[in-house]
Amino acid sequence: MTLAVNDKAKAMQAAGLDVIALAGGDPDFDTPAHIVQTAVDALRAGHTHYPAPMVGIPQALEAVAAKMARENGVSVPDPRHQIILTPGGKWALYLGLCAVLNPGDEVLILEPHWVSYPPMITLAGGTAVPISLPAEDNFRVTAVKLRAKLTPRTKAILINNPCNPTGRVLTREELEAIAAVALEADLYVIADEIYEKLVFDGRTHLSIASFPHMAERTLTVGGLTKSYAMTGWRMGWVVAAPDIIRLATRLNGQTVSCAATFTMHACVAALNGPQDNIAAMCTAYQQRRDFMVKALNEIEGIECRSIEGAFYLFPRFPHSRRSSLELADALLDKAQIASVPGSAFGRSGDGHLRFAISTAQSDLERAVERLAKIARQL
Ligand code: PLP
Repeated sequence: MTLAVNDKAKAMQAAGLDVIALAGGDPDFDTPAHIVQTAVDALRAGHTHYPAPMVGIPQALEAVAAKMARENGVSVPDPRHQIILTPGGKWALYLGLCAVLNPGDEVLILEPHWVSYPPMITLAGGTAVPISLPAEDNFRVTAVKLRAKLTPRTKAILINNPCNPTGRVLTREELEAIAAVALEADLYVIADEIYEKLVFDGRTHLSIASFPHMAERTLTVGGLTKSYAMTGWRMGWVVAAPDIIRLATRLNGQTVSCAATFTMHACVAALNGPQDNIAAMCTAYQQRRDFMVKALNEIEGIECRSIEGAFYLFPRFPHSRRSSLELADALLDKAQIASVPGSAFGRSGDGHLRFAISTAQSDLERAVERLAKIARQL
């Protein structure tokens, strides 16, 4: 049904209607020029073959290890055996899940959760066990909530920090609670940190792998996609213990083989080069957030929490009797605004819609004008 709303939005666009696309997750910024230039130079210099080693060219593995030490407080003493570069963060997550799960193993996921987690867990042979976190409590996770869902089959906790769709950035206290449960129940933690650089109001993103005794049981998933506006390049990674990376490498060997070699060169340029583009993008997202949260809350019938990171707003429509799917459909029909129904992110997402603010400010302004006109009809 989510796809049905999406298909309808595309069909309306194709028919020439002026649909404002707030459903996607693709930054409207271009990849910084120095990264593009490095990739072009690599291609011209003949780096058009399989990489050696297949997990990633040594300079790129070193760059990820250096970044983990510098920004995440995680020491990676053996990059060659503790990192695998992947075609995008999504494949990194899937490899990580396949590496740790045996058939029937359970994975705790925090709900609202990213749409792809449950299917990915199923494909990897496991069972997703959602932990419902209410919006009224700002989607806060506690050890009590995690412990309530533990069974002898629980194998891992999958977290997304910062979170798509809620925009939450986990606090030290929440991460300590997750680490405590992982240690006491002997679980892996898969930490999806794809939005790590997109945090607002001077917040610091904390990596759970940097917490005491957590590095050996954490699979940190990251990538260039969101932070460097590089969605089309497909470059992500897993950082984990050598036995996990060995399994991930074997899986890669019989499926995609490796990430594209030129993207590995781009990865070196992105991680080791100037970071001012990221700061500029982050500032722009924060300004859009401030504009949108204020404007949405001024419209009767819409409530929108501010967000701490990533680039999605997750407003509620407290007076509406519609399900989030019906809401998304009505918004498309009445205002030609494409959004994602909250129920796509699990049951606790119902009543919400997700709006991406990785969209031009002018489109956001137009969306707010249209919303103000039709909010009563929702
Ligand atoms: N994790 C989350 C929470 C995401 O939202 C996305 C992309 O939307 C990804 C991972 C994967 O990103 P990619 O495969 O494009 O690197």
